[in-house]
Amino acid sequence: MTFGASMGAVADSLPVPPIVLGVAVILALALWGWRQYYQFCPHCGALARRVYAGWRRCRRCGRQYRRGLRLR
Ligand SMILES: [Zn+2]
Repeated sequence: MTFGASMGAVADSLPVPPIVLGVAVILALALWGWRQYYQFCPHCGALARRVYAGWRRCRRCGRQYRRGLRLR
């Protein structure tokens, strides 16, 4: 695994400490996991549970959305 060596070289050329990069990676992973369970309402943009089957009703605008609908 060459990740450690290349990471060191990259860290030397960056203006931010490696810990910041680590936090960024963790945040990116958290964001990715979050997207598996939540989505934004296609109508009003409010946070809503992701639909896996059928329809769900948005709590904020009251309109229904379903899985195939455009995601934001
Ligand atoms: Zn809505």
